[in-house]
Formats: sequence, structure tokens, C-alpha cells
Amino acid sequence: MFLLKNEEPLLIQKKSIDNLEEEIDTFRRALAVVKNQIREVKQKMAQQLSENELDIYDAHISILDDPELIDKTIDLITIQKVCADFAINVVAREYIELLEQLDDEYLSARAKDIDEVSSAVVKSIQGKSNQAIELTKPVIIVADKISTHQISVLETRFVLGIITAQGGATDHSSILYNAMGIPAIVGVGSQLNTVQYFNSIILDAEQGLIRIDPDPETLKAFEAQYESHRVEEKINLQSSHLPARTASGKHIKVFANIGNAKEAKEAQLRGADGVGLLRTEFCFLDRKTLPSEDEQYEMYKQMLDELPGKEVIIRLIDIGSDKMVSYIEMDEEENPALGIRALRLGFKHYDSLLRPQIRALLRLSAAFDIQLLFPMIATQQGLKDIKEAIHKEMIILKTEGVAVNTSIPMGIMVEIPNVALMPELFVDDVDFFSFGTNDLAQYMMAADRTNTSVASYLPKAIPGILKLIEKVTEIAHDRGKWVGICGGLAADTKLIETFIGFGVDELSMPSALIPKTKAFIRELE
Ligand code: PEP
Ligand code: MG
Repeated sequence: MFLLKNEEPLLIQKKSIDNLEEEIDTFRRALAVVKNQIREVKQKMAQQLSENELDIYDAHISILDDPELIDKTIDLITIQKVCADFAINVVAREYIELLEQLDDEYLSARAKDIDEVSSAVVKSIQGKSNQAIELTKPVIIVADKISTHQISVLETRFVLGIITAQGGATDHSSILYNAMGIPAIVGVGSQLNTVQYFNSIILDAEQGLIRIDPDPETLKAFEAQYESHRVEEKINLQSSHLPARTASGKHIKVFANIGNAKEAKEAQLRGADGVGLLRTEFCFLDRKTLPSEDEQYEMYKQMLDELPGKEVIIRLIDIGSDKMVSYIEMDEEENPALGIRALRLGFKHYDSLLRPQIRALLRLSAAFDIQLLFPMIATQQGLKDIKEAIHKEMIILKTEGVAVNTSIPMGIMVEIPNVALMPELFVDDVDFFSFGTNDLAQYMMAADRTNTSVASYLPKAIPGILKLIEKVTEIAHDRGKWVGICGGLAADTKLIETFIGFGVDELSMPSALIPKTKAFIRELE
């Protein structure tokens, strides 16, 4: 099952024109047509994508609105008396080449955006339509590249997977594949273009593996593997609502990481024992204005309502660094991961940012089994400040006649080395520790977690992280406190046995991994 779809290359000729006004009009009309197409697609996708993901379309519209791009094109039409499709193409190529020369993954993704949008304008000028991929049966799509427009109008029920020669993990097409749950391998290179005819193809996006025209045995083996994988997933899901206990009876809580109501529902469905990390910043990222206390109350309540009776650990805002919010005033920083993020930012805008969040959560604390988790704690003073702020709000709420759980459990993320190395300084002032292994690895290895060029350093932090988890768990247990892990390592099946051996009490992970993880734990001694 496949579909090889290489679009016809655009034919753009340099033609002289006489009527300049008419040509400029044609150009402007094409900009408007493409803008409308993008708006329509955005509207169609609004049900499926988050506000953040929908920004892809706004980014494309802003290219069409770019005064420099428009003026340069009009100048070229006027001065050289050339046709509009030729002119926009020349101007767009200049930008694309400039961005590509800089050899930066992000900028090269932006170059692709300009390529896609300018090609759509050329097509509109030439009276061609934006080609949709017509599907009538389930296929794996193999293509040189696929535009975001084409992805947005795909009949996803017919898409088994996508393979493209061009593209990278951070470009907008990849963001859409992930958001739409389409298994995809992108950027496999020009060798894909030499493949013109084939009968069957294997795509294993998890392993990053493609086999073209596999021999019958390989195909059969893969089909069997795929089928058993599906059966296993089904079985794991059936037992996922039960606790995860090793053969010798050690029980470990398997919790979910969530960020919105859809994910809360998913956590419930996948058998999460609770929520170990509710990333509240996602409620701020997916919108255009600061949510009020009441709006936050409603957003958190919506998630809690999906998880009746479950223990939910709610982390205060971790905005900043790689999670920027356009409507909050933030200074430009050389190193935002080491700057004013999380509670540092929260205290900077206390009355508009942190206080409404604290109040919204405390108002929910009497009716729901919630605990508070503080991100990016580095010092004892930082912990003291946030606890004092919370206790002050408890008193105010009580005077307002609002029921509050005054002994709501509070814990800290262990994601800054200073805390991981000296848990004894913090243990008496917390109810629990939760390891943020993503940031801890970044700070231990001095390797930005968002920079793919230094990604290879991060796994090298694991031996050090294991030592820290062992030590922190020992100290925490001595004082009757518990320890969880909510960073990416929590679901690593090569490490789970070691975590359990250390006595880690809880593992929190994306819901999709919960059934498999619980089944894995049950197989352990
Ligand atoms: C972490 O740092 O490991 C973590 C769980 O927090 P986040 O990924 O949200 O920074
Ligand atoms: Mg973190």
C-alpha cells in the first residue's frame, strides 16, 4: 500500500510585460487568494490542533504580509518589466538562499515556509490550484516533500504513514504529523527520488526504519511483529487500570504527565494511577491573553473532572526558556534557560501571574486530591518564598470564606543540580521530590536540551543522574518523604528496575506509555 507522489515542478518563465499596473494587481490578487486559502485551512484544523500549532498558519500569513517581500517584488516587476510569478520567485529565492546559507535548523525550516508560501503564490498567478493529495484507500505516502497545506487537507483515515525526502524534525510539517498522530519519517534524502517503482514498503517510525520492496520473509516477519505489537498493546491496555506490582510485590505508582483536558481524559483511559506532572504552563501557552484567576480555576477544574478520585500533582508555571508566552513581558536574555523562568518569572509579575494561579489552585484544593509542585527550585530561599506566598493566600482565602486544604502537600522538582546534590537542605520543608530528568541532564552536561547539535551529551548524564536519584531517595525516605520521577527517563525500560531498586515511589510519563510500562513492571522480580 503506497502512493508515490512527486509534484510537477513549477515552470516559471521570465516574460516581459507591458501593463505594469495589471501585473501588480495580479500579484496582489494572488497574495489575497493564498491568504484566504491559508485562513480556510486554519479554520478547518482548529478542531484538531492547539492554538500553538495553529500559529503555523499565522506564520505563513505573515510571510504574505511581509512589506519587504511585497515591495521588492513590485520593484522588480516595475523596474525590469517582468511578469509577477517570475518576480516573486526571484525575491523568495533570495531569502531562501540567505537563510539556508546560515546552516541553522530553525532558519532552514523558515526557508521551507517561504518556499511553500511563494510557490502557492506562483501557482495562483499561473491559475493552477494548490494540489491536494487525493486518497481513496489506506496508503503510506512517499514524496519528495509535502506542504503544510497538503497535510492539512489530507484524509487522515487513509494515511498509514508518510515518508519524505526533504524536511526535518522541527519543521512545520513534522509538527503537524505529530499533532495528527501520523507515523512519519522525514528528511531521508535524495536517495528516495531514485525509488520510482515499488510494490510494498515497511515504515517503522518508532525505530526510524524503512524497507522498500522487502523480501517476502522480511515482510511476513514485519507483519507478524506489527500484529503482535497491536495485540500486546490491546492486552496491556486491558490490565492497565490495575496497580503495577513486581513479582515480589513491590508497588510503584505509574502516573501521567498532562497539560490539558484532552490529555487528562487520555490519562484516565490509559489507566494512569494519578497525575505526576500537570504542566500548567500549557494552559498559558495555548492562548493570546493572560488567563484570569477564574479562567484558570475553570481550566484546572476541567482537567480534574476528567480524573475522578485521582491524586493529581499540579506544577506551578514553568514559563520561560523554551516555553515562551508572547503576552507576558519578558526581557531578552542571552541564556533564557538560565534566566528568569518559572517562579523567578512568577514572582517578577506576582500580582498578574503567580498570585491568580496560587488562588485558583487553592480554591480547588478542598474538593480535589491535589498536591502542589514547584518548578526550578535552586535555593532554600526560593522554596521559602513560594511557601510563604501560598500560606499568605490561604489566610486571605479563608477570610473570604473559601474552603481550602491548609495541609495541601507541596513538593519540589529536582532538576537543578544544587538541589539534587544537597537534598538534605530541602527535605524537611517538602512533602516529596520529583525528578525532572530533562532539565537535570541539561544543567549537568551544560548542553541545551533544545539544541540538536548537543543532543548527544544528554544521555551521558544518566550514570550521574542515577547516583543522584539513589541518594535523594535514601535521604527522603529517612525523613518519611516520597520520591517520583517525571522527566523523560521515567519510562525508560532499561532503567525502571534500577529506579525500583532505589525505592523510587512513583514514575510519571506520557499516557501512551503507561500500559506498556505497567506490563513491564509486572514482569520484574
Ligand atoms: C524535566 O525537566 O524533566 C521536566 C519534567 O520538566 P519540563 O520537561 O516540563 O521542563
Ligand atoms: Mg523541567
